[in-house]
This record gives sequence, C-alpha cells and structure tokens, in this order.
Amino acid sequence: RVELDGITRRFEQSVAIADITFEVPDGEFWVLVGPSGCGKSTILRTIAGLESATSGNLYIGDRLVNQVPARQRDVAMVFQNYALYPHMTVAENIAFGLKMRNADAKTQRERVETMARILDISHLLDRKPRQLSGGQQQRVALGRAIARQPQVFLLDEPLSNLDAQLRDGTRSELKQLHQQMGITTIYVTHDQVEAMTLADQIVILERGKIQQIGDPQSIYAQPANRMVATFLGNPP
Ligand code: ATP
Ligand code: MG
Repeated sequence: RVELDGITRRFEQSVAIADITFEVPDGEFWVLVGPSGCGKSTILRTIAGLESATSGNLYIGDRLVNQVPARQRDVAMVFQNYALYPHMTVAENIAFGLKMRNADAKTQRERVETMARILDISHLLDRKPRQLSGGQQQRVALGRAIARQPQVFLLDEPLSNLDAQLRDGTRSELKQLHQQMGITTIYVTHDQVEAMTLADQIVILERGKIQQIGDPQSIYAQPANRMVATFLGNPP
C-alpha cells in the first residue's frame, strides 16, 4: 500500500499541495487528475522521494519513508519525457534495473521475455532506441521501469507525447501490464478518458487540494462539486 497522511509541500510563498490524505491498497490502480498546476507531479515526486514534504507522513508498505532516500524506496517512476539508454538494445534497457540489482542472467532473460510479450515488443529486443517509434520507445520505458517488479509504480503523464492512436494502444498495454503483474500503481494524467478507463479509484485535485476520491462511475454520477462535474465533462 501507499499511504499519504496530511502531506503538504510549500515552496517559498506558495503551497503546491495541501493536506493530501489517501491510501492506495496493494495492487490497485489509482489515477490522479486535475488541471495544470494542481499538484499532481508534486504528489508523485514526493512519493518517489524526489521531493520532500514540508509536513505529513508517507508510508510504503508498512514503512514510514519520510526520511528514506529515493533509491531506497521500492518505487519505479516513468515520466512524460522518458529517456532510454541510446547505446543499449531494447533487451539491455529492460534488463538494466535487474542487472543493477545483481539478478542472474537467467532471471534477466526470463523477465525481459515476459515484459516484451506483455508489451508486444518481442520483435524489437535487438534494436537500439533510435530505431523505434515514439510509442515503441515508451513501451520499452514502461518495461524497463517495471521489470524489477517494484512495490509501487508511478507514472506521470506517460502517454502525453504520443499521437491519439498510439496512446490508445499503449494505454491497453499498460492496463494489461497491471492486470498481469498486479503492482500498486499511481498514474497522473489530465485526460478524463484515461482516468475513467484505467482507474480503480480517481483522485481529483484542484489548486493543491483533493476535491473528490471515488471510482469512475460514482464520481461521474455524483460529482462533489461544480469543478469536478465540469472537469469530467458532465457539467451541472
Ligand atoms: P501539470 O499538469 O502542468 O504538469 P501539475 O498538476 O503536475 O501540473 P505541479 O508540477 O505539481 O502541478 O505543481 C503544483 C504547483 O507547485 C504549481 O503551482 C507549481 O508552480 C508549483 N511548483 C512546483 N514545483 C515548484 C518549485 N520547484 N518551485 C516553486 N513552485 C513549484
Ligand atoms: Mg505535472
């Protein structure tokens, strides 16, 4: 599980996120949505340990991780501008995290094959990143992040650089990846359709504050306020 308990992050004069509290149970897929600047990336970066909270407590599993540095949290994060290692093949990119953790060659090979099968990139394993399309590169980035089976998977608008068709395809692969690996996932987007199709639970944010938490159907049917309703394309 990932639990945020009253997480607040201030920058000089401004408050990026204020008193954020929610708990993602093991294996669930949660989506954070809201307009630009509402604090989505700040929340993910705080969970990853790339940003430290001004106040509040953060738990991963049963461990309080406020003081735990990023590399010692069992978390993987994929950004909008993924960067693959250009001199490595697709297979080497996917295996990288496992290699760093001293996994043996057989484990690495098996894991690469599994990831490639789920992500539909088995035919690309010997290529270099520059020989791939944007969508293929992003699939490799997903595979690379998740191959070592982190406890928590964080994604910050991972599809926003892709055209509509690639986005749909990669979104389905991502859903499949989650169904097969069951890793607790928190996904940031400002796309309502992505939120509605991927989420077990949606967290809607505005100006650093939570507006509503709920499953897609109930949020759509019973928006907590005008902002939520308008954001979901179901204005009052
Ligand atoms: P977007 O959809 O545009 O990516 P976001 O929801 O991810 O937006 P954040 O990047 O989390 O928003 O930013 C939340 C608020 O915190 C914004 O008002 C932003 O200007 C502010 N902020 C973020 N990082 C910093 C920083 N390093 N210094 C000062 N203010 C910051
Ligand atoms: Mg952001």
